[in-house]
Amino acid sequence: MAHPNIFERQAKVKQLLDENLLTHAVIKKSLSVEFNCSKSAIHADIIHFRTLGTTETIFQSAKTRADIFKRDNGECQYCGNKVAYSYIVEHIIPAYFSGVAKPYNLVWACQKCNAAKRRQVWIPRNFEEITKHHPEWKNKVLVLATKDFRMQNTNEEADSPQPEQQLNH
Ligand SMILES: [Zn+2]
Repeated sequence: MAHPNIFERQAKVKQLLDENLLTHAVIKKSLSVEFNCSKSAIHADIIHFRTLGTTETIFQSAKTRADIFKRDNGECQYCGNKVAYSYIVEHIIPAYFSGVAKPYNLVWACQKCNAAKRRQVWIPRNFEEITKHHPEWKNKVLVLATKDFRMQNTNEEADSPQPEQQLNH
């Protein structure tokens, strides 16, 4: 979801964090109302400012987006759609759960899948390739995942996740 006021919002989050007068829960609650966004968006902002100075960030650069698009061949890594109206770079493990903006946690996904996925963890089609150098992250995803799209045929007519792909665990 696009937030045109994201910079204003992040500035406010940073200000409140710097003042250190409010708990994160209060910041999330009040700013989600003020900026008409989800608490998870504010949570992501808080994580962003708390992790400044490290290599870990939940935000993506333009280059990262381009890299992910190329690696995933412009194909939604869940439903396989290559002609969706709009796409985003999606966190396999959601930012809300401290999913990092590293290529091994990012996939190209259509807005429809992103909206349906919400805070779930889904195993993308290209999972083996995406995580081949990051076995620990791979295991983390496998433990958290509720759906598995690895066996999907990219040619089939599919524009939404299939419920029978639920994993048992
Ligand atoms: Zn999709």
